[in-house]
Amino acid sequence: MYDLIVIGAGPGGYVCAIRAAQLGLKVACVEGRDTLGGTCLNVGCIPSKALLHASHMLHETHENFDKMGLTGAKVKVDWTKMQGYKADTVTTNTKGIEFLFKKNKIDWLKGWATIEAPGKVKVGDTVHETKNIVIASGSEPSPLKGVEVDNAGGVIVDSTGALTLPKIPKSMIVIGAGVIGLELGSVYARLGAEVTVIEYLDAITPGMDAEIQKQFQKTLTKQGFKFILGAAVQGAEVKKGKAVVTYAPKAGGDAQTVEADVVLVATGRRAFTEGLGLANAGVAVSDRGVVQVDKHWQTNVPGIYAIGDAVPGPMLAHKAEDEGMAVAEVIAGKAGHVNYDVIPGVIYTSPEVANVGLTEEAAKATGRKIKVGKFPFMGNARAKAMFMGDGFVKIIADAETDRVLGAHIIGPNAGEMIHEICVAMEFGASAEDIALTCHAHPTTSEAVREAALALGGGAIHV
Ligand code: FAD
Repeated sequence: MYDLIVIGAGPGGYVCAIRAAQLGLKVACVEGRDTLGGTCLNVGCIPSKALLHASHMLHETHENFDKMGLTGAKVKVDWTKMQGYKADTVTTNTKGIEFLFKKNKIDWLKGWATIEAPGKVKVGDTVHETKNIVIASGSEPSPLKGVEVDNAGGVIVDSTGALTLPKIPKSMIVIGAGVIGLELGSVYARLGAEVTVIEYLDAITPGMDAEIQKQFQKTLTKQGFKFILGAAVQGAEVKKGKAVVTYAPKAGGDAQTVEADVVLVATGRRAFTEGLGLANAGVAVSDRGVVQVDKHWQTNVPGIYAIGDAVPGPMLAHKAEDEGMAVAEVIAGKAGHVNYDVIPGVIYTSPEVANVGLTEEAAKATGRKIKVGKFPFMGNARAKAMFMGDGFVKIIADAETDRVLGAHIIGPNAGEMIHEICVAMEFGASAEDIALTCHAHPTTSEAVREAALALGGGAIHV
């Protein structure tokens, strides 16, 4: 009899299993894939960041090396070797989780799990008994009507197929201007593809701060991206080895077609809860398969919990990890907590885009008085030395209390710098607290302090 069986070994599930084992519980984790780590390590965060890193390096050699006096033969791409580097990066990380499972004495039950009843998890022909179950089964790409994905064919692909294309396409259409589409579009744009993004809404990165959306679109356009916004994709088909996408402008007018070597469908992800036997166990799910939980991640069935992409909230690895730790603590009789107001989001393009807390629009919509402090990277010496002067830091604070409500950064190291604001928000800091904190020079983080200064006495370097 286990204390806990976790279903799924993605960042939600494996972190939950480790924390529960650290707290003295007897734990097993079921994983149907051949390797641990879930979407994130196998076909998500990690392989995409490996390709972003490699293609960013290439971009630097082509665009900036000569400006710094670094000259010589032009670096070329060996796609097979780059794929090998990506695969090695994935393997060292998935093996790392295997090591952590052994170290923490967690049983890895290999195979696909079904919940027979509360306390009973079937894997293969064996039914395992457990006091508690955590569903951490993650998500999968959402299908798009009229567009059939065939990753093996390599022409109409989803994010998984886009990570392993047989060759670098000369042209690519990305359907959906969200994080995954823009990151993978960036990889191929830097590797030489002409990238066209088709988006249903009138702005890219839906839900983000409007000023950031505008700046980000401008930056990507400078990098060669083409955008077709306000367009509803009606279908895509493969004709003579090429993909032809048909879309209808939302504003009206005739349907249009565009053609490319590859189409990446990146219109979002949906909870992956089919086949878990949730109906047998009486677990309530929404009509889109999302598991319904209370504020302690417990479903309507006592002893069955759910976390990560399978439950409501942003589909992010670190949100899943936080929930994994917290639910393990709840099951072990402790107080698990996740602060959903302070979950950062990062787009790992170049420059990076990062945010936490409220956008300016959302802060205004709360009806409170707000103030906004901005600082451009053009006033930051370190950013300029890296040819990264475009972009800015924007901090939103309550006009009466000066408490930080949110921050939005587009610029170098944005994905690292955002954590300063996360810590500040966790501590309930005022913008003045950040402005009064000495920041090392020359760092890009000085731009965060300057944005906080802009809210009070005034930024220095503008
Ligand atoms: P998952 O990681 O999806 O893991 C669930 C696991 O459960 C899977 O391995 C699955 O095989 C297993 N499973 C499901 N059902 C069963 C069953 N019945 N029996 C046994 N096993 C089962 N997020 C970020 O925060 N940062 C990023 O940079 C980032 N980049 C991304 C890039 C791409 C291309 C993609 C696709 C996603 C990216 N994400 C990123 C999102 C991130 O991968 C997910 O939010 C995260 O993996 C969710 O974790 P999870 O544990 O809920 O589920």
